[in-house]
Amino acid sequence: MSECRRICIVGTDTDAGKTVVAAALAKAARQAGLAPLVLKPVQTGCAPDKFGRLQAPDCAVYREACPEAEIAAAFLLRDACSPHLAAQRDGVTLSAASLSQTIGACLSASSADLAFIEGAGGLLTPLNENESLLDALAPLSAGFILVAANKLGMLNHALLSVELLRARGLPLLGFILTHPEPDADSELEQRIRTDNRAILSRITKLPVLGEMPHIPELRHPDPCIRAHGWNEAARTVGEVVKGVRGRELSHSSRSVCSPSRTASDDLLRFDREHVWHPYAPALGAMRAREAVETKGARIVLRGGESLVDGMASWWCAVHGYRHPALMRALHRQAGRMPHVMFGGLTHEPAVELARKLLDMTPPGLDRVFFADSGSVAVEVAIKMAVQYQRAMGRPERSRLLTVRGGYHGDTFGAMSVCDPENGMHANFGGVLAQQLFAPRPSCRFGAEYDPAPAKAFEALLERRAGEVAAVILEPVLQGAGGMWMYHPEFLRRISELCRAHGCLLILDEIATGFGRTGRLFACEWAGVTPDILCLGKALTGGVMSLAATLATREVAEGISRQGGVLMHGPTFMGNSLACAVAGASLDILADGGWKSDVARMERAFLLGLEPCRNAPGIADARVLGAVGVLETARPVNVEKLQDYCVRRGVWLRPFGRLIYAMPPYVISDEDLERLVRTMRGAAEEGQWE
Ligand code: PMP
Repeated sequence: MSECRRICIVGTDTDAGKTVVAAALAKAARQAGLAPLVLKPVQTGCAPDKFGRLQAPDCAVYREACPEAEIAAAFLLRDACSPHLAAQRDGVTLSAASLSQTIGACLSASSADLAFIEGAGGLLTPLNENESLLDALAPLSAGFILVAANKLGMLNHALLSVELLRARGLPLLGFILTHPEPDADSELEQRIRTDNRAILSRITKLPVLGEMPHIPELRHPDPCIRAHGWNEAARTVGEVVKGVRGRELSHSSRSVCSPSRTASDDLLRFDREHVWHPYAPALGAMRAREAVETKGARIVLRGGESLVDGMASWWCAVHGYRHPALMRALHRQAGRMPHVMFGGLTHEPAVELARKLLDMTPPGLDRVFFADSGSVAVEVAIKMAVQYQRAMGRPERSRLLTVRGGYHGDTFGAMSVCDPENGMHANFGGVLAQQLFAPRPSCRFGAEYDPAPAKAFEALLERRAGEVAAVILEPVLQGAGGMWMYHPEFLRRISELCRAHGCLLILDEIATGFGRTGRLFACEWAGVTPDILCLGKALTGGVMSLAATLATREVAEGISRQGGVLMHGPTFMGNSLACAVAGASLDILADGGWKSDVARMERAFLLGLEPCRNAPGIADARVLGAVGVLETARPVNVEKLQDYCVRRGVWLRPFGRLIYAMPPYVISDEDLERLVRTMRGAAEEGQWE
């Protein structure tokens, strides 16, 4: 029944009246000629029947209200308490993933066309130490109806629940108000109830879809009178079913239940026709898949497939998606000051972030410039170097020196220092600044040090030092230029040469920073402090774009001599929302858990990928920290490889001759195993050509 319309019936609290509402909705659906399913994913307080099988009390209520409905319960627990505790006491492990999978399986096995999934307690009712009921319901592509008991104190609970659903981007269809207890009839009580209803709609701009009065017949010993009561209950929520039907009937027959499928087709068509994707043509671009949700190390697609993310969204989502601490920082800051201009104003998130960055980066760095993306951070670094040399009376030092095989971004200054063959140079011949390129550092990480590349570098620098403002390098790991890992000794030697020849050293740690290579910063492998350091990507834990260019006091003061200013100031510089999230992300790193996670990934990659070296068509296998690379002898057929991986529940985005993974640090052992097994399978079965 994957195409059925799904509605989660959630409450502001326990005893809000969800069960009666879900049962009444099933009855109303049936009366409107629909086939309903009512599902209770977690039921606590279950007593055994005479055969010792646990019985779900809520299912009995559904059955009485609507015997024709399909009825199912997933996890049945004995004690009448919070699911996490009841599960613990029954020796059961509850997790959001297992719960959503079970619900998904029930929905697919059912032939109903309208499903009501009843929550347990409130939205944040814990399933275990880390997850709540909402974590299980969120991936279901369902609409939500919030049930609230209309009495004193309701507004606060209901508004908090609305804020939470909105913060999670979940569609709230409206409210059903209940009166679980007989109403007290004082004038004030009545006033409270009408006021509650009006205020709730006004503040949230959402409809009250029904208000169910207290129906004493529902508890009457005579089943005929109870049936009458259920008719009355169904009538009070009938609008919900009418609303669903009305919307559905305007679509063609089977799409009665699949508005999201149609919307998804439209979305993909519009995307193909009007939206530009990275490094893609406008016509005949590779098809994109629609992602609808992310959590931990998983990306969920529109069709419900949950993929293990091997890319950490181009290497930035190191703590996994929607990490609670990052989400808290985001919401807290969004509620106060998402952005304010940085010219002439400053704020705590930026200052605190600068303080943390200076604390954690190699000693000697002293000033932080916040930029809005990695490429811009590189532009700023180049400007800093050129301005510094000019301020020091060396205007002829205006070029950059780098090595082949590098990548530093897509803006013009950054492009000029990307690899001249694999990079963008071919497309922009004659337009890019002319920089100097030494050979690629072929001295491999982990192998015996070969001094030849550093000698070649030295020879070039000796000839051209008078023109060179700065050397720019990605330390130890060359990323998008070829996923190549070189010997730290090369970096150490270049650092010495820079000092000896009066040029600055810019290290671009946009890809390598924040633990990815097994050190917090890759320059630590060589014990080198740069004059200028570029950071980005994982800085905000992958939540949003933010980058930083750090400089030593000498560079900063040099530029500022005789009133000099650094000529850069983007509109969104120091964006407070991004800085707040980045601050929270650095706090997670400071806890140090990343070290064992990165070591765990390194072991898994070494074990799983190294043996692929011998597979036909595989030219090399390389591993460093949380980076696992297979180099193929011929270009990878990206679409074919991605189809292979997606069928196996894995997301990778290879390029050139490289199939590689840089997963979130929080990836579970099972997901890591699946990722490595899939990469290995693709290599061994030749599924990349
Ligand atoms: N430098 C390096 C080393 C990078 O890997 C990247 C991005 N892949 C950049 C700079 C550019 O960063 P952004 O995409 O945020 O502009």
